[in-house]
Amino acid sequence: MANPVLRWLSSPVDYRWTVKYFETHTALASTRVLIGLSCLLFAALYVVAGVSPPTAASGVGSVIVFANAVGTAAVGAAWIRGPWPSRRMSLAFVAYADIGLSAVILSLSDPLALLPCTILFGVASSYVATFHTPRVFAAHHTVSVAVCIAVFASAVRSDAESGTEVTRLAVTYAMLIVMVLFLAPISIYRLQFIQKSDVAAAYLDPLTGLRNRRGLTASADDLVGLRVDLAAVVVDIDRFKSINDRFGHHHGDAVIRRTAAIIDEAFPSPSITARTGGEEFAVITALPLDEVMSRAASLCATYLEQSDPDSSLSIGVASSPVRATPRDAEVLLIHADRAMYSAKARGGDTVVLDRRDPEQSTTVGPGRVPS
Ligand code: GH3
Ligand code: MG
Ligand code: MG
Repeated sequence: MANPVLRWLSSPVDYRWTVKYFETHTALASTRVLIGLSCLLFAALYVVAGVSPPTAASGVGSVIVFANAVGTAAVGAAWIRGPWPSRRMSLAFVAYADIGLSAVILSLSDPLALLPCTILFGVASSYVATFHTPRVFAAHHTVSVAVCIAVFASAVRSDAESGTEVTRLAVTYAMLIVMVLFLAPISIYRLQFIQKSDVAAAYLDPLTGLRNRRGLTASADDLVGLRVDLAAVVVDIDRFKSINDRFGHHHGDAVIRRTAAIIDEAFPSPSITARTGGEEFAVITALPLDEVMSRAASLCATYLEQSDPDSSLSIGVASSPVRATPRDAEVLLIHADRAMYSAKARGGDTVVLDRRDPEQSTTVGPGRVPS
């Protein structure tokens, strides 16, 4: 695509990647509460603007303003309560925020007083810029431009009654809006987008959306910071090359993606999942060891149900007996890897627990939960 604007508009942003990235940097919970508080503040603003002159609404306008105040307060409470929304819910939130703010502004009185209030669209801009694609960012700005133009036109129209001062003030406000609402956020978003793409490329695997080895190590440090017992799980697809040879690489890629998805499902956050090589995956998790073992065994069974019958999973597990340190996470991965090779040596479709002491090594399989 030659046109850089079209190329930018069509560039993908993986919502899941972004959310997971911030989640493992423990930045998501506080952001959620801040978004919730902003919604509550918006609701309060709607009420104040709806009842106080010069912007006070009347008739249907006040119904729209107060319905939005109640809805926005409920949305704020949902943010504070959590959990973080899915991509679809997040898009619905952006649509609701934009439509709600537009409806409220267009329902209130005194366009000249309302014109500077349109910079409130900037609050949603920061959210959209962080979590969604340039397309959503452009759609959000289209709505805000349309509302700004409508309010500006309405302010200038009222000029006929109130004299030229209104137009002069409206033009000053418009310049302010262009700077605060459009020029600054758009240039910041461009830079943020470049930075985000580089972070994604450096830490995440584009085929599966899981972390790569570097992303795993970086995120494992955050888990280690929690000072909890950790376990490492290493998963390798058995006889994967023959899937490629028989059905082609495209099919092989689909198997890798599907495997990544079931691993991610088996070990949800705060576990950290990664694709560490071609058909190799690793997990660092704070789940209790017995649960890790039973989830690993279920994973073997789920893979068998979903994939080529000639292929299976070999899984190695290692756990830290004491509160983990950064070096422990590395060591655990080495031990889990060794256990995975023991599972493979036993024919695959097996989970092996490495207890660091070879005498105590436990084998589970095929697809069975340990006793
Ligand atoms: P084993 O049972 O011993 O694990 O053997 P295997 O065939 O699973 O593993 P081997 O290491 O012999 O082969 C791995 C293959 O994975 C070889 C490589 O071409 C393929 N591969 C690596 N990365 C990708 C990828 O991104 N997509 C696809 N489709 N294949 C890949
Ligand atoms: Mg393999
Ligand atoms: Mg391998």
